[in-house]
Amino acid sequence: QDRPLDSAHGLWTDPMSEKTIFQRIIDGEEDADILHEDDRCVAFRDINPEAPTHILIVPRKPIPSLDDLDTEDKDLVGHLFVVARELAQEEGLRDGYRTVINCGDDGGQSVWHLHLHLLGGRRMSWPPG
Ligand code: IMP
Repeated sequence: QDRPLDSAHGLWTDPMSEKTIFQRIIDGEEDADILHEDDRCVAFRDINPEAPTHILIVPRKPIPSLDDLDTEDKDLVGHLFVVARELAQEEGLRDGYRTVINCGDDGGQSVWHLHLHLLGGRRMSWPPG
């Protein structure tokens, strides 16, 4: 592992770039299994899936976390959920699915670019760990 650790967030980072891995995917600099792209967001499969379907829906706008959301972003966030519903239908998740936004260290966030998880294809438990 030749990349430095971002000690603030426990992430391996690319020394050539301040970009997050999701910004690099959005910019076409990193490969991803992209399922949806439009002018406001990109959706791709999670590299470490926690369910048979695990998709990340990521706004092109680099909002670090839910905690950084502005009032002007409310339509964008609504759009992320509409895309999640469309992808759930495409994935055939007829028995339901779960959407998650982890926020901050206590919320379990590890990539500091806002993203909506879409998980499905198995029965989920509650509460989350
Ligand atoms: P968080 O913990 O809510 O921030 O979610 C970050 C997610 O990004 C995790 O589920 C990771 O598995 C996923 N992830 C990290 N790097 C990549 C990548 O390069 N491609 C796809 N997913 C990734």
